[in-house]
Amino acid sequence: MTSQTLVSLKGVEKRYLLGEVEVPALKSIDLEIALGEFTALIGVSGSGKSTLLNLIGSIDVPDKGKIVFDGQDISALSEVELSHLRNRKIGFIFQSFNLIPVLTAAENIELPLLMQPELSPAERSERVQTALQDVGILDHQNHLPDRLSGGQRQRVAIARALVTRPKLILADEPTANLDSKTAHKIIDLLLDLNRKKNVTFFFCSHDEKLIGRVGRVLHISDGMIS
Ligand code: ADP
Ligand code: MG
Repeated sequence: MTSQTLVSLKGVEKRYLLGEVEVPALKSIDLEIALGEFTALIGVSGSGKSTLLNLIGSIDVPDKGKIVFDGQDISALSEVELSHLRNRKIGFIFQSFNLIPVLTAAENIELPLLMQPELSPAERSERVQTALQDVGILDHQNHLPDRLSGGQRQRVAIARALVTRPKLILADEPTANLDSKTAHKIIDLLLDLNRKKNVTFFFCSHDEKLIGRVGRVLHISDGMIS
């Protein structure tokens, strides 16, 4: 079976302006992500990981180069088309979980579905229950985030990313706020979701120790992938 390219980057560059000084954050990145792939991007703090994930997730735009997501050149998309892409085709997981503190676990997970008016309340509820089950926190669905451990909070955030059935989940240092045992469990969960549900993951970390079982590992330093 030939693999289908989900994302491709060609000659992608990104600079930031710090006062009058230009900081090159990414230098000519060429990269392809295939559907169903699990990729880990490893690099020290400041190497350009978040910048790259934000470009792939169309949260930010490159200064140079081309990004094609699921067959569409994202520089050609309007704001409305971009937000559709982000809501339907991409899931995000962050280091700091980013849960809404006044909503329960189940309500946090349901949030992205509220932007899909074609889904009925019954369909939303079924999707949320499935996602809760997939990440192993069905019993905690009515808890507020502050009653959950760090690992459980990240499971809620993973369920929230899964619930829209995205083509790609981007995870920016998802384990950086967790102890190492919990961190390994979270990576095992992501690997399991990749294997059993064929979810495509692109995850980054500064921690080389996490990637023992990851098939594809890329290293980034000073804005360049090797
Ligand atoms: P990482 O996620 O690997 O820690 P980043 O992508 O956040 O790396 O940063 C890459 C480089 O770009 C660093 O030198 C960082 O200081 C710089 N940078 C990131 N965001 C900004 C910004 N908003 N303004 C100026 N410089 C930035
Ligand atoms: Mg970062």
